[in-house]
Amino acid sequence: MNETHDPSLTSWIESANSADTDFPIQNLPFGVFSRKGDAERRVGVAIGDQIVDIGESLSANLWTGKARDVARWCDRPNLNELMEAPRDSLSEFRARLSELLSGTPGDTSVINPLPPGALVPMSEAEMFVPAQIGDYTDFYASIYHATNVGKIFRPDNPLFPNYKHVPIAYHGRASSIVISGTDVTRPKGQSVASGSTTPAFGPTQMLDYEAEVGFYVGRGTKLGETVPLEDAEEHLFGICLVNDWSARDIQSWEYQPLGPFLSKNFATTVSPWVVTWEALEPYRAPAFFRPPSDPQPLPHLSSDKNRNEGGLDLNIEVYIRSMLMREGRLRPFRLSAASLADMYWTPAQMLTHHASNGCNLLPGDLFASGTVSGPESGSQGCLLELTRRGANPIVLPTGEERKFLHDGDEIIMRAYLQREGAARIGLGECSGLIVASSKR
Ligand code: MN
Repeated sequence: MNETHDPSLTSWIESANSADTDFPIQNLPFGVFSRKGDAERRVGVAIGDQIVDIGESLSANLWTGKARDVARWCDRPNLNELMEAPRDSLSEFRARLSELLSGTPGDTSVINPLPPGALVPMSEAEMFVPAQIGDYTDFYASIYHATNVGKIFRPDNPLFPNYKHVPIAYHGRASSIVISGTDVTRPKGQSVASGSTTPAFGPTQMLDYEAEVGFYVGRGTKLGETVPLEDAEEHLFGICLVNDWSARDIQSWEYQPLGPFLSKNFATTVSPWVVTWEALEPYRAPAFFRPPSDPQPLPHLSSDKNRNEGGLDLNIEVYIRSMLMREGRLRPFRLSAASLADMYWTPAQMLTHHASNGCNLLPGDLFASGTVSGPESGSQGCLLELTRRGANPIVLPTGEERKFLHDGDEIIMRAYLQREGAARIGLGECSGLIVASSKR
């Protein structure tokens, strides 16, 4: 840890010091935005309710050395080049930006060092998927989620024997990844209604979300190259929220033998801000505890460092707001809260496993953790688990019942990291609203 993590640091930007902001000066996440009414995409850093336009800041003489290299890589329409930057350069940039933004609001001796126009209110910006994502891989790293879902699909055989040895994943689709706030059209597909034995085609009746954390690959790997577990995090740039929208009726008909396909790839929503690996330092946690009766990971997926600090103490919450709730101006209703520290596999293990056969990883590739579910009731990160495939509907504050999502429902995910002796930082919001299937 270093001075950029100091919980006592404040910013001359007043909104960054508010207790409920996700973006205090200790966070400094990257995103891609445009000014409303202007098509040009820019790299920015979130601070309070403002965005620092890094490319715009280049006109002032603020950056030197490696920090200047990073600032130049920000003068792009996406984060891909920045994601490849060496760790020490990113660290110098973060230290300098922290210095430029620190101060006490109202202290007249502190002068805004940024050139005019380099600070953009978030309310005047539109956000975009921050990287050109070449490939997207979705893991299945919560043993609680895997067991709960397994029980529903295969009551007598919930957890396959490979689960405790292999970080299970499927290749997702990058083209349908959308930014938070994008409407999601109810997908159509093949499913078999209960009581029937033959499939029919139509809008899904079991539309669900999955609350997940995303990991962007930073420095890539070459085809044929593998990554030792102790080096894995050097290839991880930062994290975001991911909603892996899922059509459960389509999924249960199509998933054997090759895994999910059209039940998942119609849309995946990501949050706009990428919290860097360095910002996560104060919130590292031991990897999930494996009871002695569980098999230990094979040597290439095992290290003391990973066991002691491979996890991340991140809290993830899911809220719903139906059309009736919006009309009644009701606040979003919390469906669940879970911790990433309960995952069975760590981000480093996912990356090392992904590259273990020589598969190359590229800057901007996205991994998602899999649904984050914990052992307690109310910690299940999807409706399939929360309602037990619709058997126990959820009652909303309006009295409406939900087994799965209805048209007009909005799902909002939030996540934050908090620790004694550290600032509270957040990931921002990941939201999406369900709209009806197209008529034809
Ligand atoms: Mn998933």
